[in-house]
Amino acid sequence: MGNVTIAFLGATETVTGSRFLVTSEKSKILIDCGMFQGIKSDREKNWQPFPVEPATIDAVILSHAHLDHCGYLPVLARDGFKGPILATKYTHDLAAVILHDSARLQTEDAKYALKKKFSKHDPPKALYETTDVEKVLKLFENVEFRTRTQLTEDAYLTLFPSGHILGSSFILLEVASKKFLFTSDLGRNNHPLLSNPDAPPKDGIDVVVTESTYGDRIHDTPPEEFARELNAAFKRGGHVLIPAFAVDRTEVILMALRDLIDSKKIPAVPIYVDSPMALTALNFYREAINGESDEVRDGVHQKWHGVDPFDPGNLRQMLTSAESISLNDISGNSIIISASGMGTGGRVVHHLEHMLPDTKNTVILVGFQAAGTRGRSLEEGADKVKMHGSWIPVKAHVAKVNSFSVHADSDELLEWLKQTAAPSQCFVVHGEPDGQRALKERLANELHWNAIIPKSGQVFSIS
Ligand SMILES: [Zn+2]
Repeated sequence: MGNVTIAFLGATETVTGSRFLVTSEKSKILIDCGMFQGIKSDREKNWQPFPVEPATIDAVILSHAHLDHCGYLPVLARDGFKGPILATKYTHDLAAVILHDSARLQTEDAKYALKKKFSKHDPPKALYETTDVEKVLKLFENVEFRTRTQLTEDAYLTLFPSGHILGSSFILLEVASKKFLFTSDLGRNNHPLLSNPDAPPKDGIDVVVTESTYGDRIHDTPPEEFARELNAAFKRGGHVLIPAFAVDRTEVILMALRDLIDSKKIPAVPIYVDSPMALTALNFYREAINGESDEVRDGVHQKWHGVDPFDPGNLRQMLTSAESISLNDISGNSIIISASGMGTGGRVVHHLEHMLPDTKNTVILVGFQAAGTRGRSLEEGADKVKMHGSWIPVKAHVAKVNSFSVHADSDELLEWLKQTAAPSQCFVVHGEPDGQRALKERLANELHWNAIIPKSGQVFSIS
């Protein structure tokens, strides 16, 4: 049977760059192939050669379409990976949207940096381009949920819905008779659209690899907080900017806004969604609802039959960059939702630049802000942030509302994990050091699991 190993090539002591490699005598399987974001020393890893020869990898399993899980795939393929990439239909659809957007942003940023001469690369270059994305999308093979698929002579895969975003999965991977459970990003039981995560297998798991994004936190913002922040900004005559992950967070926020407007808790101000990627993703969610996909929570289809759940009547969809720029001149109150969620790129950077210097405005942070991102600086109360090479003063009000998280918190992770019998090995990944340590301790104290926090590049033998 030989030795089976797991190598941690990313998402160690950080929430980005998810990449795990499981190897046996007969197989080399990569689980997720994410981009590093946030801290500079992490981002630089995107430019280093992949630690194993991409051509020797037999298959990639993609858990979901967020950039920190799929964003490096175009480089892997350009450097020799021949496929396949196994994923669900909606992960495939959404990854196409996200990767195209990523290539476009990187190309634009490189051009902008060349024009303004502030790049660290000389000449500025994009990590990958649209042609690379087109190539990698051809390597995708769709798999159904809860269906065991053979990958190689000794490797089998089963994906289960994880309730995090449309198409998202947790992964059961069997390699040379060893069973691995990867939580990837685990959702919660209160998503307004998506079904709850499936339960993990009851027993027989040898290795659990769990995320720990909120390993040290409980989502405790009261729901009224959101309305309070919105109304306070409107009273000051300001605009509200919500940086949001284009996929899923935008959907969840739009539904919450619709709820608040329908129940007259906030006025029906214009809501601008300024992210072409978010708008395309919205259409996949609409398709899933109308097509009665079983990823969608019971009752959602009936409730929203013939009605757009995302539009309370004042939704404005900003597709072109001219429309985006026109938002600089709007008057009256408004809400702008724009990507990226951590202020690392995309149109939201221009809106931050424009809105942060004005005391009337509010920026509401709704997702996890990784170390090293502008969102994190704002969350920590910075009085200025760097954008396009210059410092912008932070005069606007900055608020944090964590009830929109699509990640399980510490209690929810533990509740979910304890449904499976203690594995012989457990690894805590996809978290910052505090979150990882806190989850490791809770696993030890409450479940009596002996967990390890792997370091970047570490390889473990599976006993
Ligand atoms: Zn995710």
